[in-house]
Amino acid sequence: MLSGKVAIITGGSRGIGRAISLKLAACGANIAVIYAGNEESAQEVCSEAETLGVKAKAFRCDVADFNATKQTIAEITSAFGPADILVNNAGVTKDGLIFSIKEGDFDIVMDTNLKGAFNMIKHCAPGFLKKRRGKIINISSIAGIVGNAGQSNYAASKAGLIGLTKSIARELAARNVCCNAVAPGFILTDMTKRISEKNPLKDQIPLGRIGDPNDVAELVAFLADDGSDYITGEVIRVDGGLAI
Ligand code: NAP
Repeated sequence: MLSGKVAIITGGSRGIGRAISLKLAACGANIAVIYAGNEESAQEVCSEAETLGVKAKAFRCDVADFNATKQTIAEITSAFGPADILVNNAGVTKDGLIFSIKEGDFDIVMDTNLKGAFNMIKHCAPGFLKKRRGKIINISSIAGIVGNAGQSNYAASKAGLIGLTKSIARELAARNVCCNAVAPGFILTDMTKRISEKNPLKDQIPLGRIGDPNDVAELVAFLADDGSDYITGEVIRVDGGLAI
């Protein structure tokens, strides 16, 4: 159980982040839900979490902005106390083959998916070190393990997250801070709705179904809790076997 723990979830307003926020709340954690612009959805997640008997607050913040993340973590700390759990889930796609992809599409994806996680870890790490305890969970992707045509920017950002995860795991292990990555496969959210309508990948998934955000949230809850205290620097796929 996570009773009394403080969890920060980036991109907690929708999709996988929403499921993670509500799962951690159901386990007893107070949650800080970071969103980019979708205030209504973020507030709705917080209202649902509060019905579970925990504190929940939404924070608008572009995770790609170093100073904004610093300020937001300061605000979260004064509202809830220092974080115990950080879930770097915020992510975007700007797909295109290398011939057509624009420089700006590369930058936005790297800045949000990879630098965003760096920013959050950078500003949360002092609090974890002081507590001599912490759980960092980075939401990568199987695209970061096996690559994906049309997603060179996205796959690079997600592979980068794996390198970040392993390096932070090594740096902070002596202070009892664990850092792991979760690599989802094909999960039904706003991000994938368009693809699933056009090109159903179900047949390629050994377990025979597209993933649900809760499939990812279950693993994140395990990695956030004491039962995973001896696991760090690991990358765990949640993909129904897609990348076997
Ligand atoms: P989604 O439904 O598109 O939701 C994205 C979330 O990220 C939203 O909460 C959004 O906030 C937030 N966000 C986007 N840019 C942000 C920024 N600059 N600063 C702060 N928050 C930002 O995506 P999803 O499918 O749930 O994906 C969640 C994570 O899982 C992503 O990292 C994604 O790469 C990864 N993943 C997804 C799949 C999949 O199949 N869905 C597979 C592998 C990995 P707003 O609501 O305010 O816009």
